Amino acid sequence: MTQEITLCGRCNRKLKDQKSIDRQFGPVCYKKHLQEQAEEEILKNQITIDEVEEAS
Ligand SMILES: [Zn+2]
Repeated sequence: MTQEITLCGRCNRKLKDQKSIDRQFGPVCYKKHLQEQAEEEILKNQITIDEVEEAS
């Protein structure tokens, strides 16, 4: 079996536990990643609302 080294998507550290490898983030970076995704969603929603208001 070949051993693949998966690096964290944020800090490029080697991920050792299977959960982190599946997520491709270490536990701390995964939390930050989720937070950023949530913030991005809010921004997207704000843009959508602005577009709707402009159209009406
Ligand atoms: Zn990391």
